[in-house]
Amino acid sequence: MKQVVLATGNPGKLKEMAEILQPFGWGVAPQSDFFADEAEETGLSFIENAILKARFACRKTGLPAIADDSGLEVAALQGRPGVYSARYAGPNASDEDNLQRLLVDMEKVPPKQRQASYYCAMVFCRHADDPTPLIALGRWKGEILHAPQGDGGFGYDPIFWVPQLERSAAQLSKQQKNAISHRAQALHALVEQIKEA
Ligand code: IMP
Repeated sequence: MKQVVLATGNPGKLKEMAEILQPFGWGVAPQSDFFADEAEETGLSFIENAILKARFACRKTGLPAIADDSGLEVAALQGRPGVYSARYAGPNASDEDNLQRLLVDMEKVPPKQRQASYYCAMVFCRHADDPTPLIALGRWKGEILHAPQGDGGFGYDPIFWVPQLERSAAQLSKQQKNAISHRAQALHALVEQIKEA
């Protein structure tokens, strides 16, 4: 069985990725089975950071690796918080701190200009120096609410309104979110590329 390292420490993401990859005969192992440190996310784009994370995991393990990088892009804020989504309110900010900072930044933005997208880059590197990593992207469009709604999900989900379901992302079931999220879109697209390759 082929083995691939999943370069994430997030248990929810690990489960979601393992479920999608296992039917293809891939044995998946989290990077925490091999090492504890993390790649420095110095890229200016989600793609750059996902490649940095995948190469780092390949180098540490000698195995192929899949990594993702994701975040929220808000049109009225020129794409912020973007790659800084996890640390928008500062280096050790909590999800709640980041969400509150975004609400403050959006205070004066009128309803028609509150469009946002969750964005995910998912990368597969065969080895640390792979010159042709496979890259798949996912985008989930929504709007930023004026106040949190719902208590599911994580991160910015309570203020991310999903117009077609008329709910915030934090009011969706896990199954509903996994059917349409940026991460699910990117992962399915990556699996298609792996199959072709
Ligand atoms: P990561 O690179 O996937 O770990 O995500 C970086 C940050 O983007 C997270 O800490 C969240 O703030 C935000 N983010 C990414 N995906 C989601 C999501 O599905 N819901 C809410 N926030 C998300």
